[in-house]
Amino acid sequence: MPTGCVALLVTLGMGPVLEEQPLGHVPATVDVVATEPLDDALDAPPDEEPEPPEPEDDEVPLVTTLEEALAGAPEVEVPPRPTVVRHRVRPRERVGQIAVRYGVTPEELWKWNKKLDPQAIYPGHRHLKVRARRLPPPRRKVRYRVQEGESWMDVSAKFQIEHRDLHAYNWSERDLETGMELVLWVDPGWPRTIHPGAGPPIPEHFELPTGARSVGRPNRGRLEAGILLPPSELYTRKVPSTGLYGSSHTIEQIHRAFAIFRHDAGYEGEVIIGAISRRRGGRFSPHLSHQSGRDIDIRLPLWPTVPPSISSAGPDEIDWYATWYLVKSFIATGEVATIFLDVSRHRNLYEAARAMGETPDSLESVIKWPRWSGGVRPGPVVRHSEGHDTHIHVRIKCGPDEPRCKRR
Ligand SMILES: [Zn+2]
Repeated sequence: MPTGCVALLVTLGMGPVLEEQPLGHVPATVDVVATEPLDDALDAPPDEEPEPPEPEDDEVPLVTTLEEALAGAPEVEVPPRPTVVRHRVRPRERVGQIAVRYGVTPEELWKWNKKLDPQAIYPGHRHLKVRARRLPPPRRKVRYRVQEGESWMDVSAKFQIEHRDLHAYNWSERDLETGMELVLWVDPGWPRTIHPGAGPPIPEHFELPTGARSVGRPNRGRLEAGILLPPSELYTRKVPSTGLYGSSHTIEQIHRAFAIFRHDAGYEGEVIIGAISRRRGGRFSPHLSHQSGRDIDIRLPLWPTVPPSISSAGPDEIDWYATWYLVKSFIATGEVATIFLDVSRHRNLYEAARAMGETPDSLESVIKWPRWSGGVRPGPVVRHSEGHDTHIHVRIKCGPDEPRCKRR
């Protein structure tokens, strides 16, 4: 274990990271402290009992797949009332991730754990008090032997672990060699939302109103005979729907993309369409574009355990796997010009795509991450746009019956 990498590894983390520390044994379930009274349980002195030493690495199970690593874990329990538990912090676990596991918000965790500063890194924070809305089994430590030709990114994708976390678990940045053993932490308690191919079939035709046309540019244009995005089981419309008018071509692509998305991802959660254009198009404050009926703002789906009371969704609350399927489904229509996403979230999207089975080659035309040098021609579909960190902005191409639509 080379120690020269320590400084580098610490800077790999972004946001509040609960740093690596000596670990106790891995309990079969979380420790339930009390079901009530809640405030008393939260105020109880922390459990200072010494924990057994960390198991030797050769006692940690050796696995070959994620399924094997998760096998046999207890089911997530949903108690009738929130239940106070003590969470043992695992290496690299972030406050946002702990919140998602227990169905609470980071703000609640900070309230229940007064010394938890959202901006700081926490060596020595062994336990957090949580008033849990779900009781997941703990993270698990496993070992994995590197297969021929595998890179760090390949292994992180295989086990759905963030790339930078995998480096940190192993205190190493050196190239992988076949047969090398890595330590991984996997999370059987994390919500699973993707069930590939399990959704409803994709219709061949969509019965939708025609005759609405995009005129001019997205930043300086209008919408002729705009049609309101109809209600559908495929998506949820933002209320009020005064900004949900589009061209016929755009409305059709939304239906096609969402039908592909629901089928391919088997995703059952809500996805909210927030803005397209006004009925006649034109200026639509605060947007600069959204003027010609072919720009669509879609809120990024959150993990189903995130409480609706969350004030603002950070990257840990966003379901990047569902987001990747959404992006992929829009691209599959063949009618997408660009998808805008803040560059601070490109890593999340790229790693989710890899975890869902994409390869560097299949992503070459989609997203530039992680290769910033060496221009890609033509430019990738996903591009940076400031502030698009909780929604994507999809721009549909001009349709075949839109002669006055201008590309840009
Ligand atoms: Zn937008």
